[in-house]
Amino acid sequence: MDFEIDEKMSTILTMVNEFVERELVPIEQEMLHGDPETLQALVVAAQAKVRQMGLWAPNHPVDLGGQGLTMVEHGLLSEALGRSPLGHTVFGAQAPDAGNIEILHKYATPEQRDRFLRPLVEGRIRSCFSMTEPETAGSNPVLLATTAVKDGDDYVINGQKWFTSSADGATFAIVMAVTDPDAPPYQRASMIIVPTDTEGFNLVRNVSVMGHVGSGHASHAEVIYQSCRVPQANLLGPEGGGFVIAQDRLGPGRIHHCMRWLGIASRSFDMMCERANARVISTDGDTLADRQVIQHWVAELDAEIRGARLQTLHAAWMIDRFGAKAARDEISAIKFSVANTMLHAVDTAIQVNGALGVTDDTILSYWYRHERAARIYDGADEVHKTSLGRRILRRYAPAH
Ligand SMILES: Cc1cc2nc3c(=O)[nH]c(=O)nc-3n(C[C@H](O)[C@H](O)[C@H](O)COP(=O)(O)OP(=O)(O)OC[C@H]3O[C@@H](n4cnc5c(N)ncnc54)[C@H](O)[C@@H]3O)c2cc1C
Repeated sequence: MDFEIDEKMSTILTMVNEFVERELVPIEQEMLHGDPETLQALVVAAQAKVRQMGLWAPNHPVDLGGQGLTMVEHGLLSEALGRSPLGHTVFGAQAPDAGNIEILHKYATPEQRDRFLRPLVEGRIRSCFSMTEPETAGSNPVLLATTAVKDGDDYVINGQKWFTSSADGATFAIVMAVTDPDAPPYQRASMIIVPTDTEGFNLVRNVSVMGHVGSGHASHAEVIYQSCRVPQANLLGPEGGGFVIAQDRLGPGRIHHCMRWLGIASRSFDMMCERANARVISTDGDTLADRQVIQHWVAELDAEIRGARLQTLHAAWMIDRFGAKAARDEISAIKFSVANTMLHAVDTAIQVNGALGVTDDTILSYWYRHERAARIYDGADEVHKTSLGRRILRRYAPAH
């Protein structure tokens, strides 16, 4: 097993790390306290610099102008970008567009590529992914209630979705809807591309999350599809292929998320150690770093983050070598364990920073609010634990 990267990738990572530190960390305060329009202008300016550096959308395949990275390289890049909440957006690698680009690249027809994929990769438009429904359990998508019924050359879509992240301002949604209720459960649903200006695509509200309604890319919409009519040519992939495509989107996407979380964990760790060294807590000039409890937190967290990183790189290496299916156990394990490591790192960094940690003067409280969801989306902890535990136990079952 070898996680070594070549010189080109090493140079890219150095450039990305420097750019995030020099250009993005300073504008985070605008994200926390400023107005969205000023932030947007700063983001666009930073994106222009990234394009000049030839690093736009580096995670995409070569034929889409990306760097054609392996999964290990993709993960390392995501970790570097994850050190700032602005990293992925400024480099054209943000969710949900990155996942949509992956499935469009694999399944889109030539017409769909021209109309939806190319402008998305170029960053001229944004997209969203519309699967979860408020009235059915997202953890078990065979319960999906949204339907797409054929009528002439069209599909007519009816249903209610929520947590369609970034729908506000998006040009199109990829919607998962039941196209054949009588088919076997995992062949009932399909993916359909719906331009958001289609009549019957109703963005009802951006759902307030942890006290924040959000807007534009940073929002989670409730959408009602009401007799929403699109041509059957907007079907993405085969009819009944919704579950397979959703899995395609999620497998490698979990490496992307886990390594992004490790970027968050490592920056939180840095902020914790810097504060521990700087904060004087006695008349003798002792700092927090002189206290054994803090030293233990630092040591334990260091070990936890290192372990999570190696575990994730190993899962990425497995995908590179044997494919996502062979890496199912590894992917399930990192999804819940790395999410918890990241949340532990943010929480401990807040504790060491004391009152400062819960203010919005640092990025820690932003992460505390925004990243709690890591244990829920792309498969809740319990779902991954159940499927991993079940698979492991099956191997120990006595032969009949
Ligand atoms: C910030 C954020 C962004 C999101 N973005 C998108 C998006 O862009 N597009 C989209 O379609 N969806 C999105 N989602 C939705 C996400 O995919 C769902 O929240 C997720 O699939 C869980 O579904 P649910 O919320 O309906 O929870 P439920 O399925 O109702 O589950 C609730 C809880 O029950 C427990 N549970 C569930 N099943 C089991 C089980 N089998 N065994 C034991 N315990 C179980 C878990 O603890 C789980 O958290 C997003 C969610 C969040 C929070």
